[in-house]
Amino acid sequence: MTTLIPHWIDGARREGASGRTADVTDPATGEVSGQVALASTEEVDAAVAAAAAAFPGWRDTSLTKRSAVLFKFRELLNERKPELAAIITAEHGKVLDDALGEVSRGQEVAEFACGVPHLLKGGFTENASTGVDVHSVRQPLGPVAVISPFNFPAMVPMWFFPVAIATGNTVVLKPSEKDPTAALWMAELWKEAGLPDGVFNVVHGDKVAVDRLLEHPEIQSVSFVGSTPIARYVYETGTRHGKRVQALGGAKNHMLVLPDADLDLAADAAVNAGFGSAGERCMAISTLVAVGGVGDDLVARIAERAATLRTGDGRRGCDMGPLVTREHRDRVAGYVDAGEEAGAKVVVDGREVQPDGGEGGFWLGPTVLDHVSTDMSVYTDEIFGPVLVVLRVDTYEQGLELINSNEYGNGTAIFTNDGGAARRFQNEVEVGMVGINVPIPVPMAYYSFGGWKNSLFGDSHAHGTEGVHFFTRGKVITSRWLDPSHGGLNLGFPQNA
Ligand code: NAD
Repeated sequence: MTTLIPHWIDGARREGASGRTADVTDPATGEVSGQVALASTEEVDAAVAAAAAAFPGWRDTSLTKRSAVLFKFRELLNERKPELAAIITAEHGKVLDDALGEVSRGQEVAEFACGVPHLLKGGFTENASTGVDVHSVRQPLGPVAVISPFNFPAMVPMWFFPVAIATGNTVVLKPSEKDPTAALWMAELWKEAGLPDGVFNVVHGDKVAVDRLLEHPEIQSVSFVGSTPIARYVYETGTRHGKRVQALGGAKNHMLVLPDADLDLAADAAVNAGFGSAGERCMAISTLVAVGGVGDDLVARIAERAATLRTGDGRRGCDMGPLVTREHRDRVAGYVDAGEEAGAKVVVDGREVQPDGGEGGFWLGPTVLDHVSTDMSVYTDEIFGPVLVVLRVDTYEQGLELINSNEYGNGTAIFTNDGGAARRFQNEVEVGMVGINVPIPVPMAYYSFGGWKNSLFGDSHAHGTEGVHFFTRGKVITSRWLDPSHGGLNLGFPQNA
């Protein structure tokens, strides 16, 4: 029996009325577990109307009361995160531990947002001009849209909505239709935490829902995360409709290993960052760049480790789960075929994996392709699967040039024991998030997350102070309280004295 997954509008579940649905599958069995409603434009309008109606009341709710709701949400999430992790594993496929890790990283943003009264403090200048004071405030935008990808059904929405809500906005979330239940679960948690109806809404859907959010006159901003072509489209369409847009796109993250690096540490890191979540992370290491002859040794150590990984059902204590859908699994396997045909050496072949999971699951084991060159599709394209490609260069400069020439600039890492080289790298590399002997440098919630180049369209990164700025508008107030010394006519431009 399959479950019907409804929208969440104005504090209640709403059955889909468009007549359109999509299958949700359990990737470890291949079985259809649910049907998610795909919203019509009218259903999106109903969610936006609920968010617009809730906005004045929420905007005017005191910061003390708002942060109390945030705090309660954080407490409930912390108590019940195993439930959410189980939902993620059942629809996304990542192993339970990894799903729990995702929820914890999202929770950090809720914790950051609990401190919003401090972050919203403005400046005050007494007597800026004689008898004139100036102060600044930051005010919420109104109803805002969040559109999220399949790979982090809880964490990525949580990069945005705790900050949006804490700063006084109301939210319409359009999660990925591939794993939609996490969003619904979080909506119910908000209600339990005491959030007024209409402040947080969820509409499920596809391009129809996204397009309506991008053009809807009441939506003030769009926070999007997904693949680069769609991110670019969302940025261009949303800004054309006058919205503030932050659109985070795809990635091809390189790990540069210098000859002096600890090769065991580097091999551990490459395996963890390459195959965790089956490589379906925007911060996954997908490209290893071996400098100055360390390639053979490093690849041997990686292959040894990859062979020990157990691929299977995420509920069975395996190391790595399935890919999210059959189409995606076949697409990733197709890249491995193409790489092999183009002359890359398949050192570890995930196509031959013996999974500990259902026969109909979407399995592909860890795969390592060595001697890859920059013209191969396994290098030029974002694969988004458990495929690590290895390139070799002679010098640090060649490695840097390779990374800086890539169209993406999300994350990167350098492995070395040379502090000077690492310091040079952090300065010279054209990438938004840099790890030094840290393979997945996802910033803490109080810093901001975001890449450069085709990995992010817009000016603002997610969460941290950039998130607070994104979800608020600045206002500066100049005030003078008249006393008997004021008065008189003067048509000149105001000057300070
Ligand atoms: P996707 O681009 O297919 O989908 C993202 C969202 O866009 C979903 O909500 C989807 O329903 C919607 N969408 C899909 N097609 C659309 C269309 N034609 N028009 C309008 N909306 C559309 O991405 P995905 O496969 O869900 O997620 C994986 C991608 O997300 C990868 O490229 C990954 O690198 C990227 N990602 C990036 C970051 C980051 O921080 N930069 C984080 C996570 C994921």
